[in-house]
Amino acid sequence: MAAISLPGCTLVDHPLVKTKVTVLRNKDTSRELFRRTLRELTALLAFEATRDLQVEDLAIETPLQPITGSKLANSVTIVPILRAGLGMAEAMLDILPQARVGHVGMYRDEVTFEPKSYYFKAPPKMAEADVFLVDPMLATGNSASDAATVLKSKGVKRLRLMALVGCVPGVKLFHEKHPDVPIYLTALDPGLNDHCYIVPGLGDAGDRYFGT
Ligand code: URA
Repeated sequence: MAAISLPGCTLVDHPLVKTKVTVLRNKDTSRELFRRTLRELTALLAFEATRDLQVEDLAIETPLQPITGSKLANSVTIVPILRAGLGMAEAMLDILPQARVGHVGMYRDEVTFEPKSYYFKAPPKMAEADVFLVDPMLATGNSASDAATVLKSKGVKRLRLMALVGCVPGVKLFHEKHPDVPIYLTALDPGLNDHCYIVPGLGDAGDRYFGT
């Protein structure tokens, strides 16, 4: 599949990413491997999504001499969209163990496919934090877009969206509604089927991660 490039969207194009996305897509991948690979891919994506975080000087001493090192200038908050985003949030905490975690609960109405919000809980001082909204699938873009709107209404200023598999209509919709929020993906598919599943996609990420 040729790489598609869309405004506002960074598609991480790396051999390790491509091979791990293939593992996730494969219907024969076991639950154990699916979980592990989802977390590994999230860490690889985070490498790109955190690239422009601000750092400030930190004076330390190595065993040999004092030096000026670096520390993150701002607090970090991870916000998974429930429930499929939970696996990505865990992977983010492996590399950002000091991060706070907020939660956005969304489900898709089975008839209209519209997102419905049922839960929101965020840490304090969101305006000062670098916030990473995480959901493995950027399908219609409605859930992520609604979640971003809620986060902004709580004062979030620096927001990034991380998804593993996105699709062209989802990226376009999200970018239209939130042109200020960069999108990071490990795969970009052409579109959705009649049930709003990304094709070729990887199926239902939550079902595959949780075994439901
Ligand atoms: N959610 C999923 O888990 N998979 C899709 O393809 C679309 C939405």
